[in-house]
Amino acid sequence: MHIPLPKKVLRILSKLEDCGYAAYAVGGCIRDYFLGLQIHEFDLCSSATPQEVHACFEGERLLDTGLKHGTVTLLSEGESFEITTFRSDGSYSDKRHPDQVYFSTSILEDLKRRDFTINAMAYSPVHGFVDPFDGAKACRDKLLIAVGDAMERFGEDALRILRGMRFASTLGFTIDGSTHSAMLKQTPNLRKISRERLASELNQTLLGQDAARVLKLYSQILFIILPQLAPMLHTPQKTRFHMYDLWEHTLKVIEFSPAELSIRWAALFHDSGKPASITFDPDGVTHFRGHPLISTKISDECLSSLKQSKMLQQDVHTLVLHHDDRFGADRLQRWLAKLGLDMLKRLLQLQYADIAAHAPHVAAKAHKMLELIPMAETLVEQGVCLGLSDLKVNGDILMRSGVPQGPVLGEMLSYLLDLVLSGKVKNDKEVLINIALKRLNAQ
Ligand code: ATP
Ligand code: MG
Repeated sequence: MHIPLPKKVLRILSKLEDCGYAAYAVGGCIRDYFLGLQIHEFDLCSSATPQEVHACFEGERLLDTGLKHGTVTLLSEGESFEITTFRSDGSYSDKRHPDQVYFSTSILEDLKRRDFTINAMAYSPVHGFVDPFDGAKACRDKLLIAVGDAMERFGEDALRILRGMRFASTLGFTIDGSTHSAMLKQTPNLRKISRERLASELNQTLLGQDAARVLKLYSQILFIILPQLAPMLHTPQKTRFHMYDLWEHTLKVIEFSPAELSIRWAALFHDSGKPASITFDPDGVTHFRGHPLISTKISDECLSSLKQSKMLQQDVHTLVLHHDDRFGADRLQRWLAKLGLDMLKRLLQLQYADIAAHAPHVAAKAHKMLELIPMAETLVEQGVCLGLSDLKVNGDILMRSGVPQGPVLGEMLSYLLDLVLSGKVKNDKEVLINIALKRLNAQ
């Protein structure tokens, strides 16, 4: 079998071969080739030890990025390539990293330590295609299967559980039976994985085409990582607006929202404050008064515990806080001024997904939220007033017209801005000065 590799990769592989070592492209790049996906990096492996790689590429730029694990990075023609020595791993007492790494001269040994069969394929133009676990078939069957004994693999390194969720979500793969049950059984070790690594895998899982399906299958895993979300499971929503319980509704919102990180996280958190705010009428109808604010506390806490960026935390906070604030075309300019176009669009997309995940008679109205997006874009194109800097009067103009300096001036500008944003008053210098003077005289 021939797998086309870029010239840069072929040069590195043949240089290693010329130095007397076996060398392959391995892992994600071969998987993505079989899946017809864009390959975003080429990981290489070889029988050369890091020192031998250094000697082979003498005069070129090499970084010792992971010497302990046999990895050096070659900087070549503006790109970086990781070259890792074939290895087999010792025991994993911290449930994440091998205690010892044994360098090997066998590609088969090396493929055995990898996580999933689709990631355990290698290719060399000299030695051909190496696929001891039938990863190519798993690619065709869209199946995620652990290499070797699944219980052992997840027991060694619990990050693989999250990688499994990520691949299932992003590739739309089914998780093979024994792999699936081992992922669910080895969850206690998840606590040993760094929050940053968990966050990175969760981000990718949430962005995947099958995020909702995977989060439904592995709710228990998500709840171990973010226990604040666990009360959502089986929380009833007994109102005429909802047909799903809270967790089912949340998953539907994720499913209906676009693959944008802040929107997907906001979809996950938007109603997380409901269990803490639930009240029941005598006839059993549920209410969740004030839940958006409680949900923002949960999203702040969870995202900061995952060490997510401040920007993501803030964006998700804004979306969660306003997810239930409904407005139509008449108040669009005001919301545009408050959030800016980009955030307003995201809020409307979240609201669309949220409404679509209610009962059918509510869901029928969801499209109205999306219809506001082009209207908001038109307002921006028209250059409508969105803040004090767009107002046709400023402090100087008002003072020259007779408004005194001091707090009155600031308060007057806010008042005029508010009128313009409400659409009741034209953003026109003379009109605004007249209103200001009238108000001043009335005070
Ligand atoms: P991505 O598309 O995100 O790069 P990837 O599978 O290539 O996915 P990498 O982190 O680049 O992920 O790892 C490269 C290869 O190393 C994987 O394809 C897999 O063979 C192996 N690997 C990575 N992480 C693990 C792990 N935790 N346990 C076992 N093998 C792993
Ligand atoms: Mg990779």
